[in-house]
Amino acid sequence: MKIHNFSAGPSILPQEVLTKASEAVVEYNGIGLSLLEISHRSKHFVDIMENARALALELLGLEGKGYKALFLQGGASMQFIMVAMNLLEKRGSYLNTGTWSENAIKEAKIFGDIHEVASSKDAGFNYIPKGFTVSKDDSYFHCTSNNTIFGTQIKQFPNSPIPMVCDMSSDIFSRQLDFSKFDLIYAGAQKNMGPAGTTLVVVKEDILGKVSRKIPSIMDYKVQIAKSSMFNTPPVFAVYTSMLTLEWLKNLGGIKAIEKVNEMKARVLYSEVDLNPLFKGYAVKEDRSYMNATFNLVNDDLKDTFETMLKEAGISGLNGHRSVGGYRASMYNALPLDSVKALVEVMSELETKA
Ligand code: PMP
Repeated sequence: MKIHNFSAGPSILPQEVLTKASEAVVEYNGIGLSLLEISHRSKHFVDIMENARALALELLGLEGKGYKALFLQGGASMQFIMVAMNLLEKRGSYLNTGTWSENAIKEAKIFGDIHEVASSKDAGFNYIPKGFTVSKDDSYFHCTSNNTIFGTQIKQFPNSPIPMVCDMSSDIFSRQLDFSKFDLIYAGAQKNMGPAGTTLVVVKEDILGKVSRKIPSIMDYKVQIAKSSMFNTPPVFAVYTSMLTLEWLKNLGGIKAIEKVNEMKARVLYSEVDLNPLFKGYAVKEDRSYMNATFNLVNDDLKDTFETMLKEAGISGLNGHRSVGGYRASMYNALPLDSVKALVEVMSELETKA
């Protein structure tokens, strides 16, 4: 039976990427060796790293604009720390839209003062605050483009008078944005790009080197750039698989093409959530995420029936985050429209049974 994978991350990858990645584990490119047993300094891997870095910039439309792409370790969670270490001098501005923003704020507080420009905590993070101002005197402004747990997504980014930093872990490469508005973008690979184990950082070089603190080498973006993202042994398999996914996306027509599919998937699912009286969406409509749709059963008595039906239809990974419960359909780039249709079918079938 075909499994429809709605997992929030690590999550679905294109089948052809999985096939190519698994082939490389056995033997890379006919060289008689596995990708996992060659030096990261070999030409084979250096080419992979350079290709992955170039593809990331190309897909974001940031080539030749003063940006560098890095594939680091430590997850997006380590970026909460690196961002503050490299950029925070006096005070940093943060938009608090959920658990991941809160975690970013918590870590940054170790390095300096933090100002929360706005927060949606009062309403269980079911909306994106708007109409706030960003002070030109702060070191940088940090936001989270897509709130993976609560299912909200920033549709309109502010015009920040200071460098804008964005955690795009759960919606990078999924929609067209003017990426040059951002000075630093980071994203864990394990949602829209590849397996867990690497984190993409895209940084505009001219914002670096402005803090007075000493930065340990491995945490210093300038060192990582100078070493071409190879300061130490990189996560070779995660970088290779991410490169394959970026190639897959490029061949598909890039972000412009996938955005259309993502919009369609979101439209199909949210229409069902809105039309079916058994379900209620969690996020306010205008801020709904196209990547992670969150919803609840109006009547919890139907939980067991619904979940049995999901299982029978091969629908996997639909449980909400352990901190909020309910349901969350993660519709990352590699999830086919057919999977969303299969889910919607189960939801409407439940209505006929109720
Ligand atoms: N930011 C966001 C928006 C996320 O969704 C996640 C993971 N779900 C993280 C940060 C943390 O990522 P990691 O596990 O790679 O540290």
